[in-house]
Amino acid sequence: MKHGPGFLRRLLEHLEASPLRMTRKRERLLGVLAAADQAISAAVLRDRAGLPPSDLVTVYRTLEAFERVGILQRIPLEESGHLFELTEPHDHHHHFVCRECHRTERLDLCLGKELEARARKLGFTEVRHVMEVYGFCEACRPVPASVD
Ligand SMILES: [Zn+2]
Ligand SMILES: [Zn+2]
Repeated sequence: MKHGPGFLRRLLEHLEASPLRMTRKRERLLGVLAAADQAISAAVLRDRAGLPPSDLVTVYRTLEAFERVGILQRIPLEESGHLFELTEPHDHHHHFVCRECHRTERLDLCLGKELEARARKLGFTEVRHVMEVYGFCEACRPVPASVD
């Protein structure tokens, strides 16, 4: 996805002010995520960062750390697994997700704020919401079975 100007600089400033310790590996992973034009899986992130297969656990830990400081959003896939994308600090998005190629399109509206307020009124704390829309993108649209 396209990030606004100064995006990476804002994230780095946010990280600097956070308790998160940055390492060379984390910096590399952040750079790959920032350069990605789509939400990507942890395995794709690891490969693009040139890390060995055994580093997948490290990648997941880094993703969890980025998530905790509020610069990363996890997008659940319909069946299993997640895609990950950087966001402006503490921002959040909803997406259309292609169930075949996992292409994502950001939605520029949030449908959950009212529901979160309602949950708080009911006494829930640490409230958050997830809503993604799954379908086939134009390129992956299944060919209808012929009827002859
Ligand atoms: Zn697709
Ligand atoms: Zn929302």
